[in-house]
Amino acid sequence: MSKLIKSIRGMHDVLPADSHRWQAFENTIRQLMASYGYKEIRMPLVESTDLFCRSIGEVTDIVEKEMYTFEDRNGDKLTLRPEGTASCVRAGIQHGLLHNQIQRLWYNGPMFRHERPQKGRYRQFHQFGVEAYGIDTPDIDAELILIGARLWRQLGLKNIRLELNTLGSNQARAKYKAVLVEYLNEHHALLDEDSQRRLLTNPLRVLDSKNPAMKAMLDNAPALVDHLDDESRQQFDKLTARLDATGIEYTLNPRLVRGLDYYCKTVFEWVTDELGAQGTICAGGRYDGLVEQLGGKATPAIGFALGVERILSLLEAQQEQVADPVEVYFLLLGEACEVKGLQLAEAIREHYPEMRMVTHCGGGSFKSQMKKADKSGARIALILAEDELSNEQLTLKYLREKKDQVSVKFEDIVTSLADI
Ligand code: ATP
Ligand code: MG
Repeated sequence: MSKLIKSIRGMHDVLPADSHRWQAFENTIRQLMASYGYKEIRMPLVESTDLFCRSIGEVTDIVEKEMYTFEDRNGDKLTLRPEGTASCVRAGIQHGLLHNQIQRLWYNGPMFRHERPQKGRYRQFHQFGVEAYGIDTPDIDAELILIGARLWRQLGLKNIRLELNTLGSNQARAKYKAVLVEYLNEHHALLDEDSQRRLLTNPLRVLDSKNPAMKAMLDNAPALVDHLDDESRQQFDKLTARLDATGIEYTLNPRLVRGLDYYCKTVFEWVTDELGAQGTICAGGRYDGLVEQLGGKATPAIGFALGVERILSLLEAQQEQVADPVEVYFLLLGEACEVKGLQLAEAIREHYPEMRMVTHCGGGSFKSQMKKADKSGARIALILAEDELSNEQLTLKYLREKKDQVSVKFEDIVTSLADI
């Protein structure tokens, strides 16, 4: 026998027992985004490799070692998208959505990164992302943070905290970079191998190191907040004033730098301590330079992306499992009942499009059909056997409650299901 083919490491099926939790999340974000006036955008899963190299940055983890890049049959270099922002900007420029306009957009879908799979870190994972274009004032920064906070509330999630920082303008950051490099060079002996490399390619990323041996040295490093330009500082103060006014708690984290090159000014992460090492569930920030960098007219922009798997596993950790059983199981015994039952079932669905009802298929004895009804989790069994058929009625049986079964005339079945 040939070897069984399995899914690719780090790429998971969402099984039928779990898909309702994904759907509940998707329903929540769809409704939430509409309530803030955001529109959905859907981009292709595959883009030119160049798009990600030019946006995310050549010396970031993603571009250096995580992308699924391949040549297609034409010899074009393509990449499975590792994130959504670059594609969103590409689409915005291509379709003329950005210049001199305000766009409030969201997307939700799979992303691909060749990382070491572990809890909360997969090779195909899903991001819900929100992007706002054309607004350079901190009111929109506050709006995006409020959207996050409302989402946690609507999902019923607890113990998620907001970490906030500002990276300043590109010019201010360049000046700070020089100061930081000088400091890191003075402490070169303490830098691990990764950080020594980063020092040359992307020194700000050294601040992001999780290596405990470097913690004290990094805690004493010159802080970006002390090198901010006036405009960034003012914008940041306005943002925090808005968060204070709306009761959003936050921690200022001067070492929050984010892993992608395109960020400037406001950056933030929503973090939990309940998921081990993969505690960042949502991350974002301003990227005012990216649209121009990708060939569009300069357009201010800000966005965030949330890891759906991490949100769902936090929900699982914090909330009791809610099953998602069918409500009604329709038992049909014998050919004539199967035919009549089909008519009745369709009439019921016509009136109750939301009702979750399974009509039995495949025949079998009363006992075996009853077993299936029970296993389905249904509260109610509708039974149509020979006796019922000749009396033109159905038996309605409660499977989970101590209530007597009742007989219902065919013509009354739709109304009687209204108050079960
Ligand atoms: P991390 O530091 O955890 O690698 P990141 O900085 O690479 O995250 P972003 O690119 O900002 O993450 O993506 C936004 C969010 O997407 C993350 O906060 C996380 O919740 C989720 N995410 C990122 N990579 C993965 C992955 N490989 N598997 C599952 N979720 C992920
Ligand atoms: Mg990463």
